[in-house]
Amino acid sequence: MKKRILVVGVGGLGCPASLALAEAGVENLGLMDPDKVEPSNLHRQILYSEKDLGRLKVEAAADYLKNHYSRCKTALIPEALGAQNAEKILSEYDLVIDGLDRLEKKFFLNDWCVNLGKPYVHAGVVKFEGQVLPVLPGKTACLRCLIPKIPPPFAMPTCQEAGVLGSFSQAIGYLQAHEALRLAEGQGPFRLWKVDAQKREARSITPQRNPNCEACGKGKVGAETPQPLCAS
Ligand SMILES: [Zn+2]
Repeated sequence: MKKRILVVGVGGLGCPASLALAEAGVENLGLMDPDKVEPSNLHRQILYSEKDLGRLKVEAAADYLKNHYSRCKTALIPEALGAQNAEKILSEYDLVIDGLDRLEKKFFLNDWCVNLGKPYVHAGVVKFEGQVLPVLPGKTACLRCLIPKIPPPFAMPTCQEAGVLGSFSQAIGYLQAHEALRLAEGQGPFRLWKVDAQKREARSITPQRNPNCEACGKGKVGAETPQPLCAS
């Protein structure tokens, strides 16, 4: 596939998503993450092994993908997504994967993708619950349509803080990649997946756009120039 896909956050979701995209034949994959591999990452971030401890995640991930799928070319971006680099980096890709850990960062990415008209796939996991939302800006509901007000910073625990089984976050990451491939091919309908590993339930619903959404509706902020609604 010629589409250029950017994975923002190469952790519990970004690792399996990157792997699935490379397996599927994506030839241009951007890997964006400023962090280094830590021991606590190893049980769920499947591109890393003990020999990678202390290395930049993007370098270790790129090595793994290069060794297994030589057709997949990776661009390494060892930076955090912020107001200073978001437009330049996101503009270079056709589609974006949200592999970020904190909810406030996910809103930040949502707002930039919506402002730039960039298709992207949100995913999140907390304990036994996971969700995946493909977003076609201006056409389907965005993350802010679902959650109008961003919770205060650090209000929601990350995977690492709340605890999550590696097998479950990997399943959600693969589902995220599956939806990204469908989105890249324009294969709708684009629905919100909700998965509950404890109840053993998976369902998909069509999320409704919020006409007053501050990212993609009448309440849009910064329609002319990208103006994220929250800080990085
Ligand atoms: Zn919206």
